Parts: sequence; structure tokens; C-alpha cells
Amino acid sequence: MRNAKPLLIGITGGIGSGKSTVCKIFEVLGIKVYDSDTRAKTITVTDTELKKEIIDSFGNESYKEGILNRTFLASRVFNNPEELKKLNNLIHPKVALDFENWVKENADQDYLLKEAALIFEINGQDHLNKVITVYAPEETRIARVLKRDSHRTKDDIKKIIANQFPETKKRELADYLIENGENDSLIEQVLALHSKILAIKK
Ligand code: ATP
Repeated sequence: MRNAKPLLIGITGGIGSGKSTVCKIFEVLGIKVYDSDTRAKTITVTDTELKKEIIDSFGNESYKEGILNRTFLASRVFNNPEELKKLNNLIHPKVALDFENWVKENADQDYLLKEAALIFEINGQDHLNKVITVYAPEETRIARVLKRDSHRTKDDIKKIIANQFPETKKRELADYLIENGENDSLIEQVLALHSKILAIKK
């Protein structure tokens, strides 16, 4: 019987780098994944206290038909660090608590994955045992996101990239790197990493 806590492994990377795709492969191996973005979206609807705080800070337009109006909020916080900080300070503690509870619910696992676009940007690595960065060249990421998201233009994607941590920094800070360029094999890399993580002494 194992009594050690599961290792907590972060998985990050810029827009379109392939985080979700890599996580799907880990899921096939039976690994549980906490999708921070989706969980945050759910919490903004289910947590009435948070909903009230967001409306108090950003106005009624923050919600549309009961759902967080991300387009409106994005326009409020884009290129406005103060407003972005305010929004993050409301949402991040709630997501952190939700993650803590999720970890408790999955305490019998060897390791757990936390997928998040922002980890190093908010010193999230301090609460994780290891962090994986998924990397793909910028042109590849733009092409893949254009194919995936019909509502986005090349310009939109470039603006998002300009607001994210540079890929070189995320590569440097990572414990593990997964290369997701045109000629890289994701499955082989995930299998190798899975064995490596399982071999970590707790
Ligand atoms: P976001 O930051 O926007 O959430 P992400 O990092 O989770 O993105 P994915 O959604 O996994 O990235 O990948 C972006 C798009 O590229 C998806 O449509 C995915 O199917 C595709 N994709 C990812 N990896 C590859 C690959 N190796 N070959 C071809 N297409 C890929």
C-alpha cells in the first residue's frame, strides 16, 4: 500500500504549443489531468461569491447569460496590468483551492498533472514537484491555432503570444521538455517521460 502523496506535475507552454494534446496522451496512460482553464471557467459560474466579486469589480457586462463574458473581460484587462492583476487575484485563489481539493480526491495516484497556460508567470512551480514545458515553433503554433479556432486571426494570435512569457524562458525553467514541432513524435516522448516520473523517488 502506498502512503506517499502523489507527485504534482505542471504542464505548460504557449498558445497552441500542444498542452491539451500531450495531456490526452497522458490520460490514455491512466494519468489524471486537472485542466486549469476549464476548471476556472466552471468556478466563475458555480461560485456565487466569486461571481459577485467579479461583477462588483468589473460591472454587469462581466457576465452574459450567466456565463463569464471572457471577450468583455479580455478587452478590459488586455494591456492593462492593474486590471489583469485585480481579476487574477479574484480567480486564482479559488482555482488554487479547487486544485487542492482535487488533489485530495486523487490522493491514491502516483502522480497528477496540472495543465495551465500560466505556471512560471505566477511562480506556480513553487507548489509543484516538476514542470513540463511543451514547445513548438511560433509559425507552427500559429498555423495550428488558425486551423483549430475559426474565430481567431493571425494578428490575434500574435498579440496573445506577445503577452505570454517568451518560449526560451519557459524552456529554460522547465524540468522536462516535450518538443512538438512538425517532425517530433509526441507518443514516444510522453511514454519516456511517464517512466521517468514514475521512477522519481518520493
Ligand atoms: P491553448 O494554449 O490554446 O489551450 P494547447 O497548448 O492546449 O493550446 P492544443 O490545443 O493541444 O494546444 O494544440 C493546438 C492545435 O494543434 C490543436 O488543434 C491540436 O489538435 C493541434 N496539434 C497539436 N499537436 C499537434 C501535432 N503534433 N501535429 C498536428 N497537430 C497538432
